[in-house]
Amino acid sequence: MAAQYDQSREFARPVLERVHAAGLFDLQIPETVGGPGLTAVEECIVQEELAAGCAGIALALIANTLALTPILLAGTPEQQERLLRPFTEALRFAAFGLTEAEAGSDAGALRTRARRDGDGYVLDGRKRFITNGGVADLYTIFATLDGTSQGITCFAVPKGAPGLSVGREERKLGIRASNTTEVLLDGVHVEAQDRIGGEGEGYRIALRTLLRSRATIGAAALGIAREALSCAIRYAQGREQFGRPIAQLGAIEQMLGEMGMRVEAARLLVYQAAQRIAEGEASPLYSSMAKAYAADTAMYVAGEAVQIFGGYGFMEDYPVEKLFRDAKIYQIFEGTNQVQRMVIARALVKEHA
Ligand SMILES: Cc1cc2nc3c(=O)[nH]c(=O)nc-3n(C[C@H](O)[C@H](O)[C@H](O)COP(=O)(O)OP(=O)(O)OC[C@H]3O[C@@H](n4cnc5c(N)ncnc54)[C@H](O)[C@@H]3O)c2cc1C
Repeated sequence: MAAQYDQSREFARPVLERVHAAGLFDLQIPETVGGPGLTAVEECIVQEELAAGCAGIALALIANTLALTPILLAGTPEQQERLLRPFTEALRFAAFGLTEAEAGSDAGALRTRARRDGDGYVLDGRKRFITNGGVADLYTIFATLDGTSQGITCFAVPKGAPGLSVGREERKLGIRASNTTEVLLDGVHVEAQDRIGGEGEGYRIALRTLLRSRATIGAAALGIAREALSCAIRYAQGREQFGRPIAQLGAIEQMLGEMGMRVEAARLLVYQAAQRIAEGEASPLYSSMAKAYAADTAMYVAGEAVQIFGGYGFMEDYPVEKLFRDAKIYQIFEGTNQVQRMVIARALVKEHA
């Protein structure tokens, strides 16, 4: 089924309906508004398992949490009740709108404008690469009031708001079952009651959100790595060359040993970061280490798995080429791995100041 959705590039709504029916969506919505009130640890466990099956399908859950976290972190009790409760009652999708064509790693340079308009605001701009962008019922949009990062403010915008539309849907290397689109804002009126946090607090809210989400991104990458390792082991046990299973060749043993070690190291980093988030001690150091190391591990292990499969690994008939294509994005989104290393270095330097 994962291969089928990968090839058709369809959004896997029927699969996601089953995931929702199993109670695995939006785990961190608090019990006060009808959610399960679970933590980043449970979210990582679910994400690791689902991403081992199909990271593209599993990404819809990450995008929901990413978009709803600003409301969890900075929303008033009234906003949480009004905006989050509907997610506990039925399957709904949400999208986090930070990135723009000219503002990726440098998200503080975003240009989407918010103008005060009576009691509310009017938003104009263009968001790029937005996961769930074409299927979302609710968008959290970051826009600046004064053209600077100090003016960035977060707004909740419902699907169907006049002036909000979905632009181009991207055709991607991997995670093809996920929905990635432009989101266009053309004079979108937002009521003051839908501003999340204070004016000018948006950039900080976005960074705090990403800090939490990076553990889950790491968990998805871990799921890919784990699956690639297990495919490689099974194949190496069954494939015979020179009269014996290739798993008994020293060169393959070296590869499997290294892959296994990195998967376990990624697992420790991911769940350490998640545990800190669950305990209210989200740490840039550990979230960035988890995200970057798990993503590098997914890319490395999936690449080695393709190699162990030989020519068959290069073919769509076998699962590892999809894992290889899916792994790449984890080094890029939610802050590229270069940006994570920058964050890690700065946290370390600060610790030693
Ligand atoms: C499939 C997909 C889904 C996405 N989903 C979302 C979403 O739901 N919401 C959202 O808001 N965004 C989303 N994004 C955007 C994503 O987070 C950005 O693509 C990412 O942050 C990188 O920005 P960029 O693509 O503009 O690359 P750039 O920032 O232009 O980076 C280009 C290169 O320069 C390097 N670089 C840039 N700055 C530095 C630096 N200071 N130090 C070292 N190296 C640096 C980068 O590491 C990279 O190698 C998504 C992207 C993709 C591809």
